[in-house]
Amino acid sequence: MILSQSSLQDFVDCERRFQLRYLLRVAWPAPQAEPQLEHERRMKQGILFHRLAHQRMLGIPSEKLDAMQMEPPLDRWWRAHSRTFLPFLASLGEPLYRYPEITLMGKMGQFRLMARYDLLLVQPGERVLIVDWKTGRRPRRPRMAQRVQTRLYPFLLAQSGAFLNAGRPWEAEQIEMLYWFAEAPTESMRFPYSAAAREDDRQYLNALLERIAALPTGELLPPAEDERACRFCVYRSLCARGISAAPFAEREEEAAPEEAPAWEVDFDAIEPVAF
Ligand code: SF4
Repeated sequence: MILSQSSLQDFVDCERRFQLRYLLRVAWPAPQAEPQLEHERRMKQGILFHRLAHQRMLGIPSEKLDAMQMEPPLDRWWRAHSRTFLPFLASLGEPLYRYPEITLMGKMGQFRLMARYDLLLVQPGERVLIVDWKTGRRPRRPRMAQRVQTRLYPFLLAQSGAFLNAGRPWEAEQIEMLYWFAEAPTESMRFPYSAAAREDDRQYLNALLERIAALPTGELLPPAEDERACRFCVYRSLCARGISAAPFAEREEEAAPEEAPAWEVDFDAIEPVAF
């Protein structure tokens, strides 16, 4: 089983949601947030922003990207990216290698852990900066520090990122994570890594995986104790936790593309339609 920060965060927030979404693959037709159309529009804009930032980091000239038609708030996010992130990038000095949209995997116990990085900025032998773009509301720092993403991404880079450093594993102290917020572009959050944090994360992730491996089968797991976990969960009505989704404006993190459930369609099992 391959686990990402999204699936692990689901497990941390609610074991039942993890079970329904990733083990039982239950598709439940309910909006994640309201108003639904506006929420979907914002999600699409978030994906477009990631695509534009990817293209910029690949080296496509900004003038070409700036000339594209953009609706609000994408146009505002993009201008903020130009205004704040590009000068930051220039301040890092050379040599600096960019790896946008790169995926790393690592084995832990019977599981594989996966991280899809928006951007890695590498100064070989010196340091590596993990950059993640966020287009949702900016959470407070303690909350961000507790997110699985903040623990998994540097951990996996330390475990599996030696190929980015001429084959030498990165020291934890050479790794740092930076969240850039489109809605608060001058308030990035940085999380330097350390050997102690790495050991802590190893134990934390190990404990999560042991709990996942020991999940009972054949019974529905209990619902989340903290009902705040249900506010943006599509399984609300299934769990008798209300039928209305919370307003999307209150959602802190945008839905990452990897958060979309990987529904599997067995095309061979689809019956031909007779006309
Ligand atoms: S609605 Fe609440 S209890 Fe049910 S799966 Fe979602 S988070 Fe868990």
